Amino acid sequence: MMSRVAPALLSVALLLGLSHCGEEPVDFQDAGGQSCPKVYQVFGTDTAGAAFNLVFLPDGFMEEELDSYRCAVQTLVDGMMDSGIYKDLACHINAYRIDLAADAGEGEVPPAKGCEVNCKPVKAREYPGGNCPGGNPLGTLVSPSGASGCSTASLNVRLCSSPKRCDLVWLDAEGQRSAKCLADCAPAHDAVIIVANSGSRGGGAMAENDPPLAVVTLFQIDDPSAIELLAHETAHALFGLLDEYECYYDGQSYTGGLNAATAEEKKKRSAFIWARECGESCPVRCNDPSEMCPDGGVSGDGLRCCNEEPTDLGDGSLGLIEGAFYHRCGYYRAQNNCRMRTLSKEFCRACQMVVEALKKELSLELCASLPTRRHP
Ligand SMILES: [Zn+2]
Repeated sequence: MMSRVAPALLSVALLLGLSHCGEEPVDFQDAGGQSCPKVYQVFGTDTAGAAFNLVFLPDGFMEEELDSYRCAVQTLVDGMMDSGIYKDLACHINAYRIDLAADAGEGEVPPAKGCEVNCKPVKAREYPGGNCPGGNPLGTLVSPSGASGCSTASLNVRLCSSPKRCDLVWLDAEGQRSAKCLADCAPAHDAVIIVANSGSRGGGAMAENDPPLAVVTLFQIDDPSAIELLAHETAHALFGLLDEYECYYDGQSYTGGLNAATAEEKKKRSAFIWARECGESCPVRCNDPSEMCPDGGVSGDGLRCCNEEPTDLGDGSLGLIEGAFYHRCGYYRAQNNCRMRTLSKEFCRACQMVVEALKKELSLELCASLPTRRHP
């Protein structure tokens, strides 16, 4: 669940994404003169030019496993849109799915099927005990016979970007280019989400990418945590929300989002996004800098902890709670729990307010009902 983000750039990118697209047919095979795999709209009814557009890509699914991927995307998207910060925005979100099989052999990519019934959990490959395979362990996407262009893309999602743990996944440079190439086949894209067929549970996202990217491994589609993971990673890619936990495992430490306050903002008591809901009266809870991160993780250093008298802060209280953005000290989250900190929790007030501000900036109405669109 790594993330690096530039909130200002993100807004610009979203606005550009929202403005350049017309009403194109959803199922097509040519885009800008290049060969493209078919694109299926699996959620949403808004025109591409007026919506947030998610594009789902598979990595590591063999042909015979593709229906599991299709089912997973539908199950995950429906679940995500019906919850948390996505629900009020769901009528402004489109989701597209591209199906490409990973296979060493030749052959046609099979036609996409729906998954209205009998969705089965994906039988994901296991890499137990930190036994991380090299290269692209998930397989390589193959092109349909005779096709060219984006259909030949390989995403190269890799496990194990960290030497310490085996559950981080990311794309190499070629994979990122491929993801963009494939995403360009969709009517529009504001974020690309890659569903990796791996039994190693994990995910990652980066809003700075062009397009913003998220990766989720597919562990079990009937487990609510799969939807929680998707909601978390998509929040990175689509809204620029940063992780609110204090330790990191991938050798880098990122800072600079809207869903936590800096020490400077805490001092001013007006500069953080949830200040208008507690401001001067925001209770403060300082952290203990000497605590260790679990599982060999580390916490960003170089920032001073606040070292103030402890305040009694209930679990749901709004306040300035030290510890966020991979730092024990110097960054303050709004509430004790948040999906950007713990997957099973709801999004905190600060994260909700970031999305509300974006909706306001884009003049988006609240959604009264949940749209769906599924292709047979
Ligand atoms: Zn939050």
